[in-house]
Amino acid sequence: MTALGLLLLSMMGYSQHMQPAGTEGGAVASGGRSQLLSRADWGARMAKQVDYFKGPAPYVIIHHSYIPAACESTPDCKRSMRSMQDFHQVDRGWNDIGYSFGIGGDGMIYTGRGFNVVGAHAPKYNDKSVGIVLIGDWQIELPPPCMLQAAKDLITFGVSQGYIDPAYKLLGHRQVRDTECPGGRLFQEISTWPHFTQVNTTDIAAAPPAAKKIEPKH
Ligand SMILES: [Zn+2]
Repeated sequence: MTALGLLLLSMMGYSQHMQPAGTEGGAVASGGRSQLLSRADWGARMAKQVDYFKGPAPYVIIHHSYIPAACESTPDCKRSMRSMQDFHQVDRGWNDIGYSFGIGGDGMIYTGRGFNVVGAHAPKYNDKSVGIVLIGDWQIELPPPCMLQAAKDLITFGVSQGYIDPAYKLLGHRQVRDTECPGGRLFQEISTWPHFTQVNTTDIAAAPPAAKKIEPKH
């Protein structure tokens, strides 16, 4: 297929399917080297149901998984995606893994529900956001540079493809719900990123220390 054909296809729909792993030039964003893996790549089960919302999404919400812990190899990260899907879809009875995308310690981007699909990761924001989970517990430690870059590349890609509003607001999960997610260290990091938006600052300040929390951490 020609480059133009690929471009046109990518403009028509699910661009994440247009960038299979291992393809030369499979960068998802100009300047980025991240690769976007499909659901099939990590062995996802079918979603029970898929509900779409009209984009572009005005919010990007960052999570950590807490559990599973950080993964380093691609086989381990694929396993982590499957375990999160098991937890959400089987144990909790949701339609699918809750997040729009996962980021592994291998620097890969894993398609969860994908763009423009209603998620299950942040009540009130599920039909207007892209939910990105950085796999691991990032309360104390900072994710490695390749993970942070992959998350940034994914956002840049989403904006360039029209899935994310160019004036999007970047939030940590804790800003929209009583949770320590995405972990204090990661939250500190994303608060320095472009488009990070301060909301609910009094709620954050009033929240008890993360270590005392017994709420679900992701
Ligand atoms: Zn979360």
